Amino acid sequence: MKVAIYPGSFDPVTSGHLNIIQRAANIFDRLIVCVMVNAGKNPMFTLEERVELIRRVTRDLPNVEVDGSNELLAEYAKRRGSCVVVKGLRAGSDFENEFQMALINHKINPHLDTMFLTAESRYMYLSSSLVKELAGYGVDLSDFLPSEIIPEFQERIEKRKIQSKEVK
Ligand code: ADP
Repeated sequence: MKVAIYPGSFDPVTSGHLNIIQRAANIFDRLIVCVMVNAGKNPMFTLEERVELIRRVTRDLPNVEVDGSNELLAEYAKRRGSCVVVKGLRAGSDFENEFQMALINHKINPHLDTMFLTAESRYMYLSSSLVKELAGYGVDLSDFLPSEIIPEFQERIEKRKIQSKEVK
């Protein structure tokens, strides 16, 4: 059975992420979407919340499991019996960083390979950080986020706005 891992911050999961999940789930027997802790990022949603949001939007995909981890990806993959990491590749900007990550992961765990799926053109520009920025200006999010998570996301944006006003 071929088990693949799709790691990321998913803060929150976007329609671009979901598109990669759907396509990878068609290729592999089992896909583990893993929310990873990224020390460099200050997330809007906790790890548990991000896991829950992805579970909600993937509940119709029976071979997709959603998990969270603070381990090194190469170690996590070994523990979960997977030898493939799936990554989505947007325009040029992703390449350098993803190429480096793939090489490092392979060095730490030589059984681990990374496979890239090119982003669909309609999601090429989409990132979680862009969605957070647009939401602050009240832009319609239906082309960017799965509909099931939009109300919760907007609620969080409003809460943040109120908190930042209180600080000022
Ligand atoms: P971001 O915060 O930039 O959205 P993540 O760390 O959550 O990034 O992304 C996890 C993985 O999903 C990475 O491999 C990233 O390249 C990929 N990805 C992010 N957005 C898209 C998109 N719109 N289309 C395809 N792949 C994407």
